[in-house]
Amino acid sequence: MLNRSQIKALLNEQKFRLTGEREALLDLFSESSRMLSPAQLHELALEKDVKVGLTTVYRLLEVMTKTGIATPFFIEGVIYYVFCGCDHHHHLVCLSCHQVVDMHQSCPGVEVPDDFQVDHHRLDLFGTCSVCQQSSVGRGTH
Ligand SMILES: [Zn+2]
Ligand SMILES: [Zn+2]
Ligand SMILES: [Zn+2]
Repeated sequence: MLNRSQIKALLNEQKFRLTGEREALLDLFSESSRMLSPAQLHELALEKDVKVGLTTVYRLLEVMTKTGIATPFFIEGVIYYVFCGCDHHHHLVCLSCHQVVDMHQSCPGVEVPDDFQVDHHRLDLFGTCSVCQQSSVGRGTH
């Protein structure tokens, strides 16, 4: 797991300086077990009295994605992000409550044409988590 100073260094390399407010924003993002759209993260920040503009939220998510500590998911026309502070893993994404769970099991074997050189891969599984399967009320109720 990356510690805070490692994350700071990575962001610094991208010319993103962590001021107090931005660090508070990073905390909110990294503590969320759900994926958040930039607008949702901005809303959450304002709720917690973290005064950052939407542009800063976009910039932070962009820089974190570039450095591999955030993963974007494109769902129904909206981009959501989740914090990824550790080594290569896959995701289980609940489409009802937007909970994202990391899967550290071994990577799947996939048949690749001989003339294609694979540098990296992503594997994310989308569906319904156990809590949502049990709740009959539906979308986002827990
Ligand atoms: Zn992850
Ligand atoms: Zn769920
Ligand atoms: Zn893998």
